[in-house]
Amino acid sequence: MTLRIDELTFRYKTGLPEIFSHLSYEFPAGKLTALTGPSGCGKSTLLYVLGLMLSPTAGRVSYNDKSLSELDDCQRSAFRAREIGFIFQDSELDAFRPILESVIEPGLYAGLKATKLRRIGLQLLTHVGLGDQAEQKPTHISGGQGQRAAVARALINDPAIILADEPTGNLDRDNAAIVLDLLQTAASEGRTVVVATHDPFVKDACDCVIDIAEERDG
Ligand code: ADP
Ligand code: MG
Repeated sequence: MTLRIDELTFRYKTGLPEIFSHLSYEFPAGKLTALTGPSGCGKSTLLYVLGLMLSPTAGRVSYNDKSLSELDDCQRSAFRAREIGFIFQDSELDAFRPILESVIEPGLYAGLKATKLRRIGLQLLTHVGLGDQAEQKPTHISGGQGQRAAVARALINDPAIILADEPTGNLDRDNAAIVLDLLQTAASEGRTVVVATHDPFVKDACDCVIDIAEERDG
């Protein structure tokens, strides 16, 4: 169960500079890996390439020796829905619907039944300490609670891979520690967890660190 990149090169458009080039790395399952480097170095970009939201300019992303970069659109969407949980910097909960409904949404995309998903979603919200808020709209929850809900959302399909983009970027230390702990638990259950971060607190808690600027500049 290995997520790898081989000779990965990316530029947004022909003529624009390469964000990274010939980057090779193996992201171990069961571990928390940090993608670090200064703002603008390409952390989010690499996470989007790993999350199959952007296609590499050259090189490949593979999982269990199967190239993901050559999947067609339909196969790519299916892989993403089933195997990848993505956490954005701002939890992006739907303001007009109960938190539970936002949590189960990726499961609906994966073709699972809403009834079953609501049961699992409630368990996950309980796991992240939000069982009592499941039926409430997110208007009154804090940023920290929102990010915990985002972790529950990322876990709804029991994905093998979790990708988190600055998940603690807007949180105070205590809330960052809670989210970090949830990500560590997700990794200890055997998942591949990759966190883009420039927060030394998060970086120090990760098992592996890949510094994009350093990889690029030698
Ligand atoms: P980080 O997450 O490390 O701050 P990003 O991956 O967001 O870095 O951005 C890396 C570089 O790519 C930056 O120079 C940024 O301006 C550029 N970039 C980001 N998105 C786009 C885009 N859609 N088109 C062109 N350039 C982009
Ligand atoms: Mg970023």
